[in-house]
Amino acid sequence: MQQEPRRIVTDSMMGLEMPDIARWSPRVQVVLGQNPGPFTGPGTNTYLLGTGESLLLLDTGQGVEGWVDKLHEALAGRQLEAMVLTHGHPDHIGGVAQVLDRYGDMPIHKARCAEYDRDLEISDLADGGRVSVEGVTLRALATPGHAADHLCFVLEEENAVFSGDNVLGAGTTVIPGNGDMAQYLDSLALLLDISPDVIYPAHGPAITDPARKVGELIAHRNLRERQVLACLGDKPMAVEAIVELMYTDVPVSLHPAAAWSVAAHLRKLESEGSARGGEQGWALAPGPG
Ligand SMILES: [Zn+2]
Repeated sequence: MQQEPRRIVTDSMMGLEMPDIARWSPRVQVVLGQNPGPFTGPGTNTYLLGTGESLLLLDTGQGVEGWVDKLHEALAGRQLEAMVLTHGHPDHIGGVAQVLDRYGDMPIHKARCAEYDRDLEISDLADGGRVSVEGVTLRALATPGHAADHLCFVLEEENAVFSGDNVLGAGTTVIPGNGDMAQYLDSLALLLDISPDVIYPAHGPAITDPARKVGELIAHRNLRERQVLACLGDKPMAVEAIVELMYTDVPVSLHPAAAWSVAAHLRKLESEGSARGGEQGWALAPGPG
């Protein structure tokens, strides 16, 4: 039997530490969301963007008390012109209300999504849409998969990409139950095509070798898919049993997240006709004839 190339992404965000406020470029300042955890690493990166007195805020963290004070400190007297959101998951949209409370009404740019936007007044941003302030032009890239409303943003002045949750500073992205693995892989391929010089992720440090990192993530997902397929037989198997077979090198505390990824691979395989799911679990789809 041919040996599998070992392309498992083994780094993780556990134990990563980052400063509360840092400047990553003349246009990019990062303020930690103050929401560290197993899924957020050191917390969500919220970005202040621009070179003038009026800035964009990209993502808002989880709504943790104390974050908006850090933001205020980083603003150092400058104004906020608008908010831009990569997607509507709670650790990205959660601080919007705090910002509106403190700084008053301003436009909120994101891809509209009834499930996440609730009663927020959203200025709908589609693929190719632009938002700019002095020194910064953001171009939206529709990149669904992790979330249906997910956008990445090209920072045109730097050939940089804000990757949201699609590419993280360390480890791999979770594809939740309402996510779509096939779309996620297409979104990664799009980032490879864009070929940025640097990626600013929503969690963890900046990525200075984007082509290698994104290539590894694609190889990792392809390997996981082959592993999932190799676990399947004629007898239905629960997702949890597949996770136990596959994720022997991952702490048990992370198995629920792994189960989301396995389930996402299974849904993709089912849509491609290779697997079938039922109440008893998952099995190989019967072959042709
Ligand atoms: Zn997310």
